[in-house]
Amino acid sequence: MKLTMDKKTAESVWNNCLSVIKDNVNPQNFKTWFEPIKAIKLQEKVLTIQVPSQFFYDWLEEHYITLLKKVTRKELGTEGRIEYNIVMENSHKGERPITIKVPSLGRDIKNSPVSMPIDISTNPIRNPFIIPGLKKVVVESQLNTKYSFDNFIEGDCNRLARSAAFAVAQKPGGTAFNPLLIYGTNGVGKTHLAQAIGIECKNNFPSKTVLYVQSEIFSRQFVDSIKNNAQNDFVNFYQMIDILIIDDVQFLANKEKTQDVFFHVFNHLHQSGKQVILTSDRPPVDLQGIEQRLLSRFKWGLSADLQPPALETRIAILEKKVYTEGIDLPKEVVEYLAYSITSNVRELEGALTSLLAQSTLNKKLITLELAKQMIDKFVKTTAREVSIDYIQKVVCDYFDLPIDTMKSKTRKREVVQARQIAMYFSKSMTKSSLATIGMHCGGKDHATVLHACRTVNNLMDTDKRFRLYIDELEKKISLP
Ligand code: ADP
Ligand code: MG
Repeated sequence: MKLTMDKKTAESVWNNCLSVIKDNVNPQNFKTWFEPIKAIKLQEKVLTIQVPSQFFYDWLEEHYITLLKKVTRKELGTEGRIEYNIVMENSHKGERPITIKVPSLGRDIKNSPVSMPIDISTNPIRNPFIIPGLKKVVVESQLNTKYSFDNFIEGDCNRLARSAAFAVAQKPGGTAFNPLLIYGTNGVGKTHLAQAIGIECKNNFPSKTVLYVQSEIFSRQFVDSIKNNAQNDFVNFYQMIDILIIDDVQFLANKEKTQDVFFHVFNHLHQSGKQVILTSDRPPVDLQGIEQRLLSRFKWGLSADLQPPALETRIAILEKKVYTEGIDLPKEVVEYLAYSITSNVRELEGALTSLLAQSTLNKKLITLELAKQMIDKFVKTTAREVSIDYIQKVVCDYFDLPIDTMKSKTRKREVVQARQIAMYFSKSMTKSSLATIGMHCGGKDHATVLHACRTVNNLMDTDKRFRLYIDELEKKISLP
């Protein structure tokens, strides 16, 4: 009788444990963290339970270790302990899941292949971002104050990304935008916007820990941590961040180990309601060399793109910069810069900076002439071509017409002629197609553009005064 009562199986022991656990955690947590567990082995005083992921294991160890210890001791006596089988998610379909055996915390930390939560107050974390000598762990956020929302000019090119970023900064971890992935080509403001979130979060929630890190640095730190046998410290450090910003994730491509550890950190942060912000120079679908399971997580939140800014936004960006730096720059120069440099904001700012340097060095006033010379040197390597926008501006200035009027449907004679001239130059001085030119000149079709070019050619042959206009305009439009 006594013997049969003592016959314990893994399952029966675990069921007894569960009934106690159930009384000690809320139903939601019980469902999430305990129902998926399977008891698979009982040997001596060791109960082996199977959990679905490393992350799951970490979570249990971090949040429920005391409870788990208590219940196993109650069931198995003071010698009783738990071991885990972690059945890892496997990215290669068809392969068998990988099982890792790990002991519960408090036994043999060193042999465990996964990170162990450690008490931050007693274990100094080796990490370059931490100011040494302070009791409390202080993380230097690595943010640059100039990349604030205030300094970020809004335009059609960035509206969605900016609003999402702003929303995230008001409620980090509390919106559907987690992770927030900001993508776009070089120099369109990804780093600026990502940092703006960090700055705003620090202002709004001074007690939260914000960290900005470039993915290459993240990767290098990880490699160093392996060398120094401090992988756990590395993981722990990143797991305590509240708002983690990882810039240029495309550089994680093909770095499998780094991706693994990032996956782990990401899961931890996401599960604990922390905010993750990522940037990339291409949309998630084009991120080759990044593991599928990471990509799928990137898509959990929102991917928002930044486009190169349109003319008005470029002008606004320059004006803001001119204003904050307290520079006196003629409006025509600002416009010239904005018209000539179309691809990205970094180049635009670079041109402005060179222009300032030039004028200071040579003690010259910044004039349109100086700007033209400088731009020529500045953009020479990038094989510049005159833009349709610029042609339209010069033509409109010449005939003293507002650009909007030229782009409108009006059939007034002088407007029609200016429009035709702009089309003619767009055809002869840019590589744009007839259709593109038509679109830029008030939504005309390609036949209209062709007709315009013929008309201008005819007039040049027959009308001397008209020919003079065209020659003069050509000089103005041609870049120095
Ligand atoms: P990316 O990270 O996309 O390569 P950055 O964020 O480094 O680009 O931006 C390049 C430069 O352009 C930075 O100095 C940034 O402040 C500026 N910039 C980009 N977009 C804007 C904007 N919308 N308003 C103001 N400055 C901008
Ligand atoms: Mg950047």
